[in-house]
Amino acid sequence: MTTPRRVKVLIVGGGPVALLLALLLNRFRVECVLVERNPTTHEHPRARLINARSMEILRVLGLDETIRSLSPGYSEAWASVESIAGGEIARTRPEPDAGQGPSWKCFVGQDDLERALVAVLSQAQHVQMLFATEFVSYEESPDEVSVTTRDCGSGAETTWQADYLVGADGAGSTVRAQCGITLEGSAAIASVVSEYWSADLSSLPVSRDAGGFFVLSKDPVLPPISSVLRDGRDGLWMSMFTTVLAPGSKSRPWDDEHVLEMIRAQLGDPTLGVELRENETWQLSSQVAARYRVGRVFLAGDAAHRMPPTGGFGMNTGLQDAHNLAWKLNAVLRGWAGPALLDTYESERRPIAQSNAESRKLLGVRKFFLVFRRRSSHSQAPCILDTWEPTGRTKSGTERSAFHVMVGQSRIENHPLQDWMLSLQREPLGKGSAIGEQI
Ligand SMILES: Cc1cc2nc3c(=O)[nH]c(=O)nc-3n(C[C@H](O)[C@H](O)[C@H](O)COP(=O)(O)OP(=O)(O)OC[C@H]3O[C@@H](n4cnc5c(N)ncnc54)[C@H](O)[C@@H]3O)c2cc1C
Repeated sequence: MTTPRRVKVLIVGGGPVALLLALLLNRFRVECVLVERNPTTHEHPRARLINARSMEILRVLGLDETIRSLSPGYSEAWASVESIAGGEIARTRPEPDAGQGPSWKCFVGQDDLERALVAVLSQAQHVQMLFATEFVSYEESPDEVSVTTRDCGSGAETTWQADYLVGADGAGSTVRAQCGITLEGSAAIASVVSEYWSADLSSLPVSRDAGGFFVLSKDPVLPPISSVLRDGRDGLWMSMFTTVLAPGSKSRPWDDEHVLEMIRAQLGDPTLGVELRENETWQLSSQVAARYRVGRVFLAGDAAHRMPPTGGFGMNTGLQDAHNLAWKLNAVLRGWAGPALLDTYESERRPIAQSNAESRKLLGVRKFFLVFRRRSSHSQAPCILDTWEPTGRTKSGTERSAFHVMVGQSRIENHPLQDWMLSLQREPLGKGSAIGEQI
């Protein structure tokens, strides 16, 4: 039996939230260890927007300009198009910097952000970063948390004694499960396939003028709405397709040939050479943890909240959790404040996550309405909502709606998505709105 190692804070996860938390604690000279089960940071961009508040936090660390310099500088406009080579329906206007804060937002792929944070952390004096190391379990006593981690290569286990444990271990958080915290909200609004591919789109001028596209297509191979995002590096793109997966399935429901057909339909030019790189499947959810703290254990980032990506709030909400928690942990560890200060982490951050998750969900709904009310009838796509129809009136007198989930032409009864839509019990948003307005 080896002697347990002693640290002030043990952070589980090596995503953007855990990395930022470690950097902030390092700035306060708080000894901590970070364990990440993967051998490296994530390969794919995932989130792309670092909003103004997150940039202010990076500025505190002197990193805002370093991170901004990684931005590929593409337009932040979203264009709604019939296809990228086809007609443009509408586009969003870039948000002007009103100069109200010291740091304006920027667009940098999450993969680039993570690599940059790791590069700085590798020089940090007070942080030990252990990749290919996973959190196994913890036990709490009045004075500390005893945490077991495992080296993913050798299988060797290590015991740590920490004052506090932070689970920044993502949406499927093991820390959250072990401390018995449940999630509240909609677990599976839909499944999303993120498909990464490369192609030379220089022959399509519009491809240079937007950072993302909503493709509102009549092509039966596509869902009524799908999106294409710039990956940040030249020639790399990501398509997102909403779908319905069999329970427990994590693989995309189409083969490569079909996906190429979908991407070419998005492009509107069947002659363009497209090379598939990789894909990831994830759940579109809107959930917030019932608690952010149990004793000496805290949750941060996706471990504490999951929200639709509309507007880029997921990662940013997590980065801002890390900032709130870091200074409070430091203050309590140094005896400048009593432990009750740590309760304010939940009371301050949870309502923000609730508000962000709810507003992202409603904006997502708006997107669905805008599209489905106009376009679902011709869709052969293997997924999602059909349409809405008046079924009565709520107590407040507003019209209520009924929703159906369709796979191609077949209506799926009792799908969770249907319950979720009904649970909103409100007048559909976006009545009369133009397709393609900012959502
Ligand atoms: C495929 C995909 C696409 C996305 N696209 C977008 C997008 O377009 N826009 C947007 O705003 N957001 C997007 N998101 C969401 C965004 O990526 C997250 O909000 C963000 O990553 C949250 O950061 P995090 O650090 O909290 O968690 P994560 O980035 O999930 O990091 C958690 C880390 O913990 C590690 N871990 C888990 N369990 C253990 C364990 N037991 N021991 C050790 N390590 C563990 C995981 O390996 C992971 O690296 C996407 C998410 C996914 C999955």
